[in-house]
Amino acid sequence: MKTIIVGGGAAGCFAAIQAARLGDSVTVIERNDRIGRKLRITGKGRCNLTNNCDRETLLANIPHGGRFLYSAFATFSPQDVMAFFEDLGVALKTERGNRVFPVSDQAAEIVETLHCEMQRLGVEIVQGRVDSLTGDPDGNCNGVRAGDMVCTGDRVILATGGATYPLTGSEGDGYALVKALGHTVTEIRPSLVPLETLERDCAEMMGVSLKNVTLTLKRDGKSVYTELGEMLFTHFGVSGPLVLSASAHMEQAGNYTLHIDLKPALTPEQLDTRLQREISAAPNKELPSLLRKLLPASMVMPMIGRCSIPARVRGNSLTKGQRLRIVQELKNFAFSVRRTRPIAEGIITRGGVSLKEVSPKTMESRIVPGLYIIGELLDCDAYTGGFNLQIAWSTAYAAAHAAENRT
Ligand SMILES: Cc1cc2nc3c(=O)[nH]c(=O)nc-3n(C[C@H](O)[C@H](O)[C@H](O)COP(=O)(O)OP(=O)(O)OC[C@H]3O[C@@H](n4cnc5c(N)ncnc54)[C@H](O)[C@@H]3O)c2cc1C
Repeated sequence: MKTIIVGGGAAGCFAAIQAARLGDSVTVIERNDRIGRKLRITGKGRCNLTNNCDRETLLANIPHGGRFLYSAFATFSPQDVMAFFEDLGVALKTERGNRVFPVSDQAAEIVETLHCEMQRLGVEIVQGRVDSLTGDPDGNCNGVRAGDMVCTGDRVILATGGATYPLTGSEGDGYALVKALGHTVTEIRPSLVPLETLERDCAEMMGVSLKNVTLTLKRDGKSVYTELGEMLFTHFGVSGPLVLSASAHMEQAGNYTLHIDLKPALTPEQLDTRLQREISAAPNKELPSLLRKLLPASMVMPMIGRCSIPARVRGNSLTKGQRLRIVQELKNFAFSVRRTRPIAEGIITRGGVSLKEVSPKTMESRIVPGLYIIGELLDCDAYTGGFNLQIAWSTAYAAAHAAENRT
């Protein structure tokens, strides 16, 4: 069987290896001059390639498309992914939250391992930007066109990814390719994405990175996400691991607010005692110097502004009410979410090819026989932790192994 794969990202390369191992003659068509551009930047260049968890945890981390993926995960699990890479000589380690990385901390090692295995199996890699899919007289998808180049085979696996980080090559081409054949594509939005805030004081705090803070995301006043970790302020609002994770819990409707507990280890009473201690130690100090003991320098003036306290007030002139306002702000430094940053800045794309139109066992299109759709192009997305790459590996495995098409 000749299998044509469009896209040499995580899903496309993995499908190529699996299909070639089953004896298929495989051609991968990748628009970039090299494969795996996005994969190289995953996990801050370290590649969090999966999550060493059980199936329940896996599904709990997939807010969209979990049920569809059940069968693909049952056939090819995180532990199978780990065994795959270890068999090819990649030493792996499991970090906090069961996140799996190569011991080398090099995403490039994952790309090179896939590349070497593709070469060993004789997978042909061709550079070209596919602009349409071709069909045989019976309506089966059997090939692709990329400009003047035509490539024909027995089936096509589409693995063109989503629409985030377009400089990696994933510009959303796959959506137009499948729409042209009658597929439905649900609304495309970014997930795991920085957030713009209504408040302008973020810009004053730009570059400040907070560690060990608790971030709570509320929708219409109701908490939908809360976690301890790291975040940072930017010229437009907020970003960093906690913010990206929080964004994955946002639906389109609703008023969203962010609440930062800057001192999660202390109760308001303990924090007040701490503040009183700072004041007693230096009663003549002005408020900004006192707050420097509790906050990064660039947060001091925005904090004072929010408490509506005159900046030059001395510690010994601070009223109890003012002190408690400071405590309140330290425990609940709040922002209103204006919107997410644009899709190009998201880590992943939410939305994609409608799952109703794809077989969950084989990833074959229910509309166009011979066409298989895998990876981020599908209407599935997950939280951070290696789950998005697991979607790529498992759906690729399912498509490569679609037994009923084997001849
Ligand atoms: C900064 C960043 C960090 C991330 N870190 C992690 C992480 O640590 N763990 C994790 O699980 N997930 C992570 N992700 C998400 C993960 O990278 C994606 O979910 C995954 O790469 C999706 O795989 P894919 O093969 O479907 O798409 P992609 O990896 O995007 O591959 C698609 C490929 O198709 C090619 N292509 C597109 N259109 C065409 C066309 N018309 N013709 C030919 N080729 C085409 C593209 O050039 C690209 O190479 C991260 C994403 C980003 C942006």
